[in-house]
Amino acid sequence: MAEEAFVSEGRPVDLQWGQICNQLKMEFGETAFDSWLKPLTVGDFKDGVMNICAPTAFMKNWVVTHYSDRINKIWEQQNPDIKKINFIVQTGFSDRRSVDTSLLKKISSSPTPQNIYGCNINSSSFGLVAGASLANDTSNSNSNNNITNGTPLNPNYTFENFVVGKTNEFAYAAARKVAESKNVSFNPLFLYSSVGLGKTHLMHSIIWHIKKNDPTRNVIYLTAEQFVYKFVKALRYKDTAAFKEQFRSVDVLMVDDFQFMGNKGTTQEEFFHTFSSLVEEGKQVIISADKSPTDLDGIEERLKSRLVGGLVVDIMPTNFDLRMGILQKKAELMGIELPQKVAEFLAQKITSNVRELEGSLKRVAAHSQLLSGKEITLDMTQDVLKDMLRSIDRKTTIDEIQKKVAEHFNISVKELQSSRRARTVARPRQIAMYLAKQLTSRSLPEIGRKFDRDHTTVMHAVRKVEELIIEDQSLAENIEILRRTLEN
Ligand code: ADP
Ligand code: MG
Repeated sequence: MAEEAFVSEGRPVDLQWGQICNQLKMEFGETAFDSWLKPLTVGDFKDGVMNICAPTAFMKNWVVTHYSDRINKIWEQQNPDIKKINFIVQTGFSDRRSVDTSLLKKISSSPTPQNIYGCNINSSSFGLVAGASLANDTSNSNSNNNITNGTPLNPNYTFENFVVGKTNEFAYAAARKVAESKNVSFNPLFLYSSVGLGKTHLMHSIIWHIKKNDPTRNVIYLTAEQFVYKFVKALRYKDTAAFKEQFRSVDVLMVDDFQFMGNKGTTQEEFFHTFSSLVEEGKQVIISADKSPTDLDGIEERLKSRLVGGLVVDIMPTNFDLRMGILQKKAELMGIELPQKVAEFLAQKITSNVRELEGSLKRVAAHSQLLSGKEITLDMTQDVLKDMLRSIDRKTTIDEIQKKVAEHFNISVKELQSSRRARTVARPRQIAMYLAKQLTSRSLPEIGRKFDRDHTTVMHAVRKVEELIIEDQSLAENIEILRRTLEN
């Protein structure tokens, strides 16, 4: 999307990398791009050899297996001077700063703080991440840092600012329970969802709550990447005793983005022991990831089975009502006037995740601010977001949705469009209608026509599927799989 276009840092290769990133994002979709490609940076370019740096070995291997062919191809077209591409890990022992910034970028890739809204989101960000010593910078070493290892704790990510709806109420309740109770009720709490649905928001909310109500509790919050980084560093400096001591003396250990824990090996083993010892001592462990424990790749079985031993909760994709609620809340926080019509329009169109929804609102708000507080209207919104909306439309067509849904449920497209009411056909039909509403910007009557139905049938189907997603886990997963294939 245009607002996320990469900025050149001066060298032609940086500019080219920016263009390549935009291309990769279009080809692989936002989710895959954010998880795997966005964290990559361009390193040295010498004698026709170009280094592309990944922050962890796990990420590097993943990129090499899944994306390197395509990246090579696009570079070849962009710049014939490049003869070879090396994917490397920038662990940063010799160059600690570089790893710090790349991790920091990833961590703070959530919406950029904007003063124009009158709330300085970054007021308590410390600009340091795990591994960076605070010893020489006492001005920064306040209690937040001890908790977060320098990761900025977003002051807006509080329970009060978290909008609760059908799709996230269980996760919210579980997070609140853990934050409020002194006794451990379920261990670990494992939160999962696809990207941008509020996991980090809930994690930070737990910390803010504990900091306020029970400041003596010793909390550590970090991402799995930071855990890996710290552990590898401890091994390197033969300092594992201090490492173990630090982690095993906490009251609450929180690990965000657990999918980046890396493949089986010593780090995972270390985590397993840390985890087990904390759980045995009755200390709370809270983990977030983009998949359920059983679906996580590269995680040892014994660790998986410990992870499912507590409470596993997921956050489902948002529904219309929740998106409306979130838009209202965010508009209030930004101090902007958001007309109902504009909110409805955004909530209808931008359904992929909350981060994107928020991004679109920020874009519209920024536009209005730049034009000296010009009123936000539907016309202006459509105009400001036209690239984004066009790409949503371009991405998926109703035909494609019908084809994929039919394939998935092993029926024919003809049956999907037919008037048959048997459940084996009717349910997939409703799902296809729901996905058409979610993933395209077609109106209800337009969708209806494609199924030879009227708009009330489509409306009913959308509502029905929204309800089913909450009640029926396996159906929800099927829909999520379909959505991912269609979006990529
Ligand atoms: P995740 O960690 O699941 O990728 P985040 O917690 O970073 O997602 O959320 C992305 C953005 O969406 C954040 O700015 C967060 O505040 C916002 N967000 C997500 N869910 C909600 C919600 N229910 N209420 C308010 N804001 C939300
Ligand atoms: Mg997150």
